[in-house]
Amino acid sequence: MYFELNEEQRMWQKTVHDFVAAEVKPKARDIDETATFNWDATRKMGPIGLLGLSIPEEYGGAGVDAISAAIAIEELGWGCGSTALAIAAHNGLGTAPISLYASEELKKRWLPLVASGRGKLGSLALTEPGAGSDLQGGVRTRAEKVGNEWIINGSKMWCTNASIAEYIITLVRTNPAGGSRSLSMILVPTNTPGLRIAPAEKKMGLKGSPTHEVTYEDVRVPLDNLIGEANRGLHQTLATLDGGRISIGALSVGLAQAAYEAAIEYSKQRHTFGKPLAEHQAIQFMLADAATEIEAARLLIYRAAWLKQEGRPYSKEAAMGKLYATEMAERVSRNAIQIHGGYGYSREYPVERIYRDARLMTIGEGTSEMQRMVIARQVLLND
Ligand SMILES: Cc1cc2nc3c(=O)[nH]c(=O)nc-3n(C[C@H](O)[C@H](O)[C@H](O)COP(=O)(O)OP(=O)(O)OC[C@H]3O[C@@H](n4cnc5c(N)ncnc54)[C@H](O)[C@@H]3O)c2cc1C
Repeated sequence: MYFELNEEQRMWQKTVHDFVAAEVKPKARDIDETATFNWDATRKMGPIGLLGLSIPEEYGGAGVDAISAAIAIEELGWGCGSTALAIAAHNGLGTAPISLYASEELKKRWLPLVASGRGKLGSLALTEPGAGSDLQGGVRTRAEKVGNEWIINGSKMWCTNASIAEYIITLVRTNPAGGSRSLSMILVPTNTPGLRIAPAEKKMGLKGSPTHEVTYEDVRVPLDNLIGEANRGLHQTLATLDGGRISIGALSVGLAQAAYEAAIEYSKQRHTFGKPLAEHQAIQFMLADAATEIEAARLLIYRAAWLKQEGRPYSKEAAMGKLYATEMAERVSRNAIQIHGGYGYSREYPVERIYRDARLMTIGEGTSEMQRMVIARQVLLND
């Protein structure tokens, strides 16, 4: 067993950390206040490799190992939840299905563009107004083969990046009979006639990460825009979400780390009853719990990433990592506000924003309840 990052991973971590400290963290407050996406920093991410984390180098990506990919998202989360979510969704949801399943032609057409920072980002639309956790039973958006095209009708909800994306990978029903082999993934360029992206949702947090309802009215794309095999979309989605869970877990570790650092700094400056907050045991215990839980979450995430890298099953471990890290981030950022007292409730301090951003993490890419179901199923079947 080896509990250290290797030399390459350490250098990568430092590179990403320094970039985030310079380009992302200083803008986090402003992009939250103005609900704008940080394009300036995103454009600069292409050359570093942050827009093509798991895209193979032959298609313009960085092709880093799974632990390095998690490190990158953790560092982005430390800097800014909104930016991190957009980049995590781009990599984990918006490009992974193409890298894993798409034809050579689709890979060459889209991956170099979105990995470089010259183009816009990628996005994935699974969720619908009437279907989130239960995609198999609930997806109503349908695609019909007519001549050499797919014709798509329906609507999707909560699509991260839709307005800043080149394309939306859309989960559609291609077999009306239903069942686990009735869904497919189809790539829909965002400039396709009939595709309508609604204004960004007004959210509690993550305001610099645009999220949209998307409607499809007789949207026509070539048959070749199918990703992978027809009617294998559910299987492809579940595999994509396994990777996405590592990413959301890593992002949560980064959010918690930022809240914890802010709490430490504040607790050393603020005095009550004649001494710094940091010298009161109640405050120390909150900090000790935060340090312990952040470390535990990080190890769970690294282990899931390592299993993924080794090509071994990792669904259960990714679900455990996401479940623990996301709930941990909420506790740690909640306590960071407590340590700041009244100032923690103010937008002057970052912990208020981090708490709002962290709240999404137990919901997006599979709720905590869904993670527990995945874990329980495997525990009961296999262990
Ligand atoms: C900011 C944001 C960004 C998002 N980005 C994307 C994106 O890019 N692409 C995308 O496709 N989706 C995205 N989503 C959607 C997200 O993945 C879904 O909201 C999530 O999967 C939950 O689905 P739902 O909202 O339909 O909740 P529902 O499935 O309706 O669940 C509601 C509640 O019931 C619980 N529940 C449901 N079924 C069960 C059960 N069998 N047993 C116990 N409890 C159950 C759930 O855990 C939850 O607490 C995003 C959402 C948000 C808020």
